[in-house]
Amino acid sequence: MHSKLIQQYGVAVLGAGPIGLAAAAQLRARGIRPTIFEAGETVGQSFREVAHVQLFSPWRYNMDGSARALLEQKGWQAPELEALPTAGELLRDYLSPLGAALAADLQLNSRVLAVSRLNMDKIKSGEREQTPFLIRVQRAGEIKTFLAGAVIDATGTWAQPNPLGANGLPAVGEVDLAARIFYGIPDVAGRHRPRYAGKTVLVVGAGHSAAGALLGLADLAATAPRTQLHWATRGDNLRRVLGGGDADQLPARGALGQRLQQLMTSQRLRLHSSFRIQSIEAAPDGLRVLADTPEGAAELRGIDEIICATGSRPDLALTRELRVRLDAWLESAEVLAPLIDPNLHSCGTVRPHGHRELTHPEPGFYIVGAKSYGRAPNFLMATGYEQVRSIAAALAGDMEAADAVQLVLPETGVCSARPVVGTGSACCVKDAQARSVGKAGCGCS
Ligand SMILES: Cc1cc2nc3c(=O)[nH]c(=O)nc-3n(C[C@H](O)[C@H](O)[C@H](O)COP(=O)(O)OP(=O)(O)OC[C@H]3O[C@@H](n4cnc5c(N)ncnc54)[C@H](O)[C@@H]3O)c2cc1C
Repeated sequence: MHSKLIQQYGVAVLGAGPIGLAAAAQLRARGIRPTIFEAGETVGQSFREVAHVQLFSPWRYNMDGSARALLEQKGWQAPELEALPTAGELLRDYLSPLGAALAADLQLNSRVLAVSRLNMDKIKSGEREQTPFLIRVQRAGEIKTFLAGAVIDATGTWAQPNPLGANGLPAVGEVDLAARIFYGIPDVAGRHRPRYAGKTVLVVGAGHSAAGALLGLADLAATAPRTQLHWATRGDNLRRVLGGGDADQLPARGALGQRLQQLMTSQRLRLHSSFRIQSIEAAPDGLRVLADTPEGAAELRGIDEIICATGSRPDLALTRELRVRLDAWLESAEVLAPLIDPNLHSCGTVRPHGHRELTHPEPGFYIVGAKSYGRAPNFLMATGYEQVRSIAAALAGDMEAADAVQLVLPETGVCSARPVVGTGSACCVKDAQARSVGKAGCGCS
């Protein structure tokens, strides 16, 4: 596929997170030259921000095969496969050495601003496939241009957090009060402790990040007793975060939900469910958070700090000049959407998929990793490693290997969200439908 262009220009990999680095290792293993563009000063920027967070998948699922082979050539030793790393350990013991092993192909401090085709805009149809991609990169205040035979976009979604507003827009006042809002999971036991100790804190969101933030704050409250916890969720179904418990094949993820359940029953936390945030105001006694609820307008007063853990979304501007086909709801790769749609099911797993599911009308362009799931929150690194293995094989012309997608992923044990009359869960119906036409399903069977 596109072999002349790839031989001449190599493949551009956007983003040096776990999936971008794995893509580069897979390409190298197939004799294709990658160039990795990373906006940050070092690799693995997203995990750096949450270095204190305990991951819920063990090492076994967190490393790519080709990346391991490359590291082992350099004398690296794999960590204990069943151990659970923190994000910081993943960075120290795997991503950083991998970045060093790929240093010759890695361009740090290089933010990709946009991707197009050389001398072609999106409208022009003739000979796109024979025309190299053009990558516009910002480095040290300068704009540079690179050409590539194919592009793998692994820029993730972490840099674009979802807002507090229940309607997907920032709540009125949110932008102005940004200094009182933390997006993500703060290190409340470490560097962020002074910001939260003894404060009244509102955590917003209903996923694992919100759970992690709440549990961290509960631990903090044990030593800083004036700390008060509020938790606001837009809906009233907490099944996804409370999780599969013992049935979760990633025990650390199941345990997170169980600990949160205990925290709720201990009454050290005030839950405000169906609390749809509309606006925030600064008042003398702290922040005032106004929301719609099923009972009418409601407000929370006296909030010192807000932690927004409402997920994240992809940066679509980057590839606006390319012919990209995304799901209208999730902004994920289109064919993945029915399999990962959180409206339909809560599976943490998706059946194996590779280059075929991840192609776009733009030949030679792929979105992989967390960004391939768009706004869906259930991406796992192991899924991304299989994605890029398949794509690297396709780019090398080895279609047999590219099509042999296989992946054994742990399931959440909570794959059941919406029952469909008489036939089991919507997830399982989708799974059966997809599999009957030879496509990936959601893995809930
Ligand atoms: C708190 C948390 C815990 C998680 N725990 C697990 C877990 O236990 N197990 C698991 O399998 N998954 C876990 N995930 C999910 C997922 O595996 C991670 O989100 C993972 O980081 C996704 O990898 P990625 O390479 O796709 O994206 P990222 O890790 O986000 O990497 C993207 C990279 O691209 C760079 N970048 C962004 N924009 C640009 C640009 N314009 N130009 C150049 N570079 C750019 C970024 O700086 C970053 O380095 C977790 C996610 C979160 C949020």
